[in-house]
Amino acid sequence: CGIVGYVGNKSSLEVLLGGLRRLEYRGYDSAGVAVIGEDGSLSTRKRAGKLAVLADDLEAHPMADGQTGIGHTRWATHGGPTDVNAHPHLSADGRIALIHNGIIENFATLKQELLDDGFEFESETDTEVAAKLLGREYEVGDGLPNALGRVVSRLDGAFTLLALHQDEPGVVVGARRNSPLVIGLGDGENFLGSDVAAFVEHTHRAVAIGQDQIVIITPDSVEVTDFDGNAVEAQEFEVSWDA
Ligand code: GLU
Repeated sequence: CGIVGYVGNKSSLEVLLGGLRRLEYRGYDSAGVAVIGEDGSLSTRKRAGKLAVLADDLEAHPMADGQTGIGHTRWATHGGPTDVNAHPHLSADGRIALIHNGIIENFATLKQELLDDGFEFESETDTEVAAKLLGREYEVGDGLPNALGRVVSRLDGAFTLLALHQDEPGVVVGARRNSPLVIGLGDGENFLGSDVAAFVEHTHRAVAIGQDQIVIITPDSVEVTDFDGNAVEAQEFEVSWDA
C-alpha cells in the first residue's frame, strides 16, 4: 500500500520509518523494512499491525542500519495480515529483498512454474512470486535492473515493485504498471515513494515515472528505462507541499 526507498548517507531506518509514517493515512495492516547494513549484510524486519509495532520491535531488537533500504506498509490482498505475509519478501538465496503494492493477477501460474522448479514459499502472497522470480533471473548475471525487467515483463495486473540486492549496496531498483511510483531527488541521496509524501520531508524535487517503466537510483544518479532497458526521458517537477 505504501512504499519508500532510500539510498544516501543518512540512516535508512530513520528515513524509511519517517516515510512510512507519512503514508499511514492510506491505511495498512502490516509494515516492514529491508536494509543493507554497514557490514554489507541484508537485514529485514516485518510485523503485522501498526507501524508502532515494527518501530518498538526495532527498538527492542536493533538491526544493522545502513545507507540503502526499502520500506512497505501492506494492505493485504493475497494472504492474511501476518508477520510472514508482510513485506519485504526474499529471493531463495535471501540476498534480494522486494516490496510490492498492487496485485499480480497471474501469480498462481507463475507460482506453479516455480514450485515445479523446486522453489519453496514461506508466504501466501502474490508478491513472493516476484521475489523468487527476481532471484532466479539475477543468476543470469547481467545485474538487478535487467533481471527486474525480465520479471516485470511476465507479470499481469497492477504493481509498484522495489528491490535491492545485498551484493549491490547503494542501489535500489523499482518498476511500475497501473500503480504509482515517484522519484525524490536529493543531494548525494535519492528517494522513491508510492507518493511524494514518502520523501517530502527531505526534498521537494521529484520525477514522475511513467507506465511500464523501471528506475534505478544510487546516491548520485537516477536512471529511468522501459522494461527492455531502453533509456526514457523523465520530467522533473517541484512538489508544492509543506513538509
Ligand atoms: N498483493 C500484495 C499482498 O497482498 C500487496 C498488497 C499491497 O498493495 O499492500 O501482499
